[in-house]
Amino acid sequence: MSAAAFANVFDPSQYSIKLIESSAISSVGVGEATIPPIRQFNRMLGIDEDEFIRNTNGTFKLGIEFVNWGKIGDAYMHPFGAYGTKFGSLTFYNYWLKYYLQGKSQSISDYSLSVQAAKSKKFMRPAKLPNSPLAEITYAFHFDAGLYAQFLRNFAESRGVQRIDDIVDQVNIDPINGQIRSLDMKSGEHHKGDLFIDCTGFKALLIQGALKTGFEDWSNYLLCDSAVTVATKNTETPAPYTRATAHPVGWQWRIPLQSRVGNGYVYSQSFISDDDAKQVLLDNIQGETINDPRVIRFKTGIRKKVWHKNCISIGLSSGFLEPLESTSIHLIQTALAKLLAFFPTQSFDEELIDQYNALMREEFENVRDFVILHYKLTEREDSDFWRYCKNMDIPVKLQHKMAMFKSTGRLHRENNELFDVISQFAVMFGQGLIPESYHPLADDVNDLEFDKGMNAIKEVITRSAEAMPTQEEFIKKHCEFKPSP
Ligand SMILES: Cc1cc2nc3c(=O)[nH]c(=O)nc-3n(C[C@H](O)[C@H](O)[C@H](O)COP(=O)(O)OP(=O)(O)OC[C@H]3O[C@@H](n4cnc5c(N)ncnc54)[C@H](O)[C@@H]3O)c2cc1C
Repeated sequence: MSAAAFANVFDPSQYSIKLIESSAISSVGVGEATIPPIRQFNRMLGIDEDEFIRNTNGTFKLGIEFVNWGKIGDAYMHPFGAYGTKFGSLTFYNYWLKYYLQGKSQSISDYSLSVQAAKSKKFMRPAKLPNSPLAEITYAFHFDAGLYAQFLRNFAESRGVQRIDDIVDQVNIDPINGQIRSLDMKSGEHHKGDLFIDCTGFKALLIQGALKTGFEDWSNYLLCDSAVTVATKNTETPAPYTRATAHPVGWQWRIPLQSRVGNGYVYSQSFISDDDAKQVLLDNIQGETINDPRVIRFKTGIRKKVWHKNCISIGLSSGFLEPLESTSIHLIQTALAKLLAFFPTQSFDEELIDQYNALMREEFENVRDFVILHYKLTEREDSDFWRYCKNMDIPVKLQHKMAMFKSTGRLHRENNELFDVISQFAVMFGQGLIPESYHPLADDVNDLEFDKGMNAIKEVITRSAEAMPTQEEFIKKHCEFKPSP
């Protein structure tokens, strides 16, 4: 993603961009679910979406279903896109909350086109139909991250990026200014550079290995430190949503691609052994496995300085938050957007670096808090793991958000944080945090109009979902996966 973004922005006749990676060192090999802003990244590169889906085994994603999180037996969807349609001056959930508190509706999912479509495996791109919910369809993708990397590598190489398949053996630091001067490769080659982007994954070879920037550990909030993954054959047509099912320790993802399903179980070694975790995963998948289960260790937290001297860490080298809300690839995208905005000259102005570091920290912290919300808002007491989560201390900002929602039904999006009020509502309400009151302006619509309006919106959503093609039909027509021979 970094090489592709750079290739798109910098003229190859003026800048030399080298993508150094080793075919002998595999990438993390997971990362299959995304969130809607990825479409902006692809659009920025000028990538044709159908071609991208065909090349990456892609499917569409309308949201995430959370099973067994609030309580065992519960399920709710965090949908992409709005609830309801335009109705009065407030965001729709405020009206629905009033309706709910009056005992007139049980489920906000009845008012979500994304949920209705996801559950009936429907998909289409937004239609040019003014005032129709079909004009507002919001989606992301599931894909094979390895194939996406390959696709972007081809993009970068075709625009002048030089790819070097070699192993970084040593990082050389300038003794005077402390900047990275060059890399010694296993082949004996030597690469100099002005700016180094550390994309070496959890190893963080440059930002940590050489520059020793340190890591801030967030595992007091997010206990999981491991995942075991396995792919299975499809047993049904792929559903256009991710499923995240909570277990007595941690949770399991199910990500349907066109030709297979990605499965993984995220857990904490302090609460369950790797062997037992493998068994939990194998006991809870459908379909024949395609590979052997593979364990991946991770550390939750952020590099103390994601940018230090002339090195910017992007991706897993910069920090990690478990993939509950599919945010890691997004954090790469947002890092690149910020890096281009704060692109340095050779003087590496400290003000730019500090600003970038502050913004990335804020971005990571906002995502962290949103992920914590899922764990904190549980009524589960069936294991030490869930008892810890339910009773743990959480960041003050999140405490405040939850308390305000509980007493007033009000939410707000701070400093353009990634997850807007609709997402916050979906998760807080979905996990059983029921507000005691609603926005007073919801009373501005008279009762008769209000009930009529709510019924009409539900009806429009149902009919819109019925009118959509199935994802299977849509993919067949536009973007069927063509595996390379
Ligand atoms: C369990 C798990 C599940 C995830 N699920 C999701 C998800 O659903 N959605 C999402 O958005 N993200 C997800 N992620 C994150 C996502 O996988 C990563 O953000 C993404 O793959 C980018 O990884 P990376 O390129 O930073 O690191 P890696 O994939 O580890 O790549 C590191 C690269 O560095 C190279 N390298 C390393 N050492 C050397 C060396 N010495 N010399 C030369 N090259 C070297 C390797 O060859 C490799 O190409 C998940 C991560 C984990 C751990």
